[in-house]
Amino acid sequence: MADRMMASVELGGTKCVCLLGRGPDEIAEQRRIPTEAPERTLAAIEAVLDRWREAEDGFSALGIASFGPIDIDRSSPGWGRMKATTKPGWQGADIAGRLERRYAVPTAFDTDVNGAALAEGLWGAARGLDSFAYVTVGTGVGVGIVCGGRPIGGFSHPEAGHVRVARAPGDDWPGFCSFHGGCVEGLASGPAIEARLGHPAAEAPADHPVWRLVAHTLAQLCHGLALVAAPRRILLGGGVMEAQPHLFPRIREALAASLADYFPLPPGDYVVAPGLGGLAGPCGGIALAQGVLSGGKGNMGHDG
Ligand code: ADP
Ligand code: ZN
Repeated sequence: MADRMMASVELGGTKCVCLLGRGPDEIAEQRRIPTEAPERTLAAIEAVLDRWREAEDGFSALGIASFGPIDIDRSSPGWGRMKATTKPGWQGADIAGRLERRYAVPTAFDTDVNGAALAEGLWGAARGLDSFAYVTVGTGVGVGIVCGGRPIGGFSHPEAGHVRVARAPGDDWPGFCSFHGGCVEGLASGPAIEARLGHPAAEAPADHPVWRLVAHTLAQLCHGLALVAAPRRILLGGGVMEAQPHLFPRIREALAASLADYFPLPPGDYVVAPGLGGLAGPCGGIALAQGVLSGGKGNMGHDG
């Protein structure tokens, strides 16, 4: 299995990364494409994959890790499509069905965070763990929860970045999520932080009061994740966490205070940075492809 080339497409809100390889240490080629209208973007992805298919080794499986919400239920007529999204033109767009028909190789389709989580489990900071959560804090907040080695899901993939959490005392800023106002994404995503500040987040120094509020919100998310799914570790990545590493000790402290000794966490640092850095997302499709090649169904949404 491991000797075969796999193709990965990480479909992001602003860019897509296509990768040909077997894992983070065996990348044959990587290509970036801006995310524009679906037809244009998918045609550009196909141009890359067409070339790889014709190359010496070709690829024997395809993994697509996409922003969402997406339809990952194999038994649904809408499998492989984008669901409701604020991204113009993308609602209902067929992504995985189109690529699966074109390349006729085993194809896995899941969220970008589920893909990144599986990649972290295979090669990164969750290596060897059967249960953990991967959170990205960037343009949005996304969460992939792996339990028993597989991302959890039911009628859909979870969207834990949109849960509502307890607010920091005295904070009544309405939040920035167009659906929920002050959900986690509405309080702690990059655009939310910038809306609250009125200027780029990069200009707020580490001692700016906004970071206490961001840490509070992310600690509340971790509080919920720990109590609901008992992941053995929580990985926090994405552009905000990468640029603001001082948030880690603050989140750990706020999480401990919030849990209030009710629920002892595993020893060692419970909230950590991803091990693959910027490669977690692009390797997500490889992890998904590997899962489908080894006979896994990829995620619970495929069970139907
Ligand atoms: P995406 O979510 O599109 O995959 P990233 O994870 O790279 O992208 O996150 C991009 C977000 O990170 C931007 O929305 C921006 O607000 C935020 N960001 C970028 N630089 C900084 C910074 N220095 N401090 C805090 N947030 C930042
Ligand atoms: Zn929301």
